[in-house]
Amino acid sequence: MNSTDKAAERTADNHSAIGKNMRKILKELGEDPSREGLRDTPGRYTSAMRFLTSGYKKTGRSVVGNALFTADSSDIVVIRDIELFSLCEHHLLPFYGKAHVAYIPSKKIIGLSKVPRIVDVFARRLQVQERLTAQIAEELKKILNPSGVAVIIEAFHLCMMMRGVEKQQSYTITSAMHGDFRDDPVCRQELMHLLGGLGNKGRH
Ligand SMILES: [Zn+2]
Repeated sequence: MNSTDKAAERTADNHSAIGKNMRKILKELGEDPSREGLRDTPGRYTSAMRFLTSGYKKTGRSVVGNALFTADSSDIVVIRDIELFSLCEHHLLPFYGKAHVAYIPSKKIIGLSKVPRIVDVFARRLQVQERLTAQIAEELKKILNPSGVAVIIEAFHLCMMMRGVEKQQSYTITSAMHGDFRDDPVCRQELMHLLGGLGNKGRH
């Protein structure tokens, strides 16, 4: 995109419904939306919010494409420390941290780089951490039909930290376990071993 296109897009975003309303909000907060630093803020806000909620237009399947492969292995696959940024639906403030995803293949495996993209499909929506965790697990179940799937998310919530609701360094851990990870203590134990040393992974 050249700079003329960018300027045109910025102007369009400034005049979009989101942009117009953001200008009202700025006024309501006691600001002057026409001052230099804020003049283009409604437009920037519009494009930032469109990006941060772009997951609504995607599905796990649409980002995986044909990166599904046949395999005989039934050994646990773990992708840990996947960087995660999302927005809490209650305050529209960020929560961020790490996602750890594991599955036990049943004939199908997935290109490893696709797992973080599935995480983003659901993270780039307005979320609560519990639902985000469950949705990623459900989507992997649908795509891979694995013998087991586990998703663990560790995250810091700025809506709590910035508002002083909770201690600054406390983070929230959520998990969703299906299949053998839920039902078979040996599988679960192996997973915990592979994920050993979780904690403080959300901190940047
Ligand atoms: Zn919140």
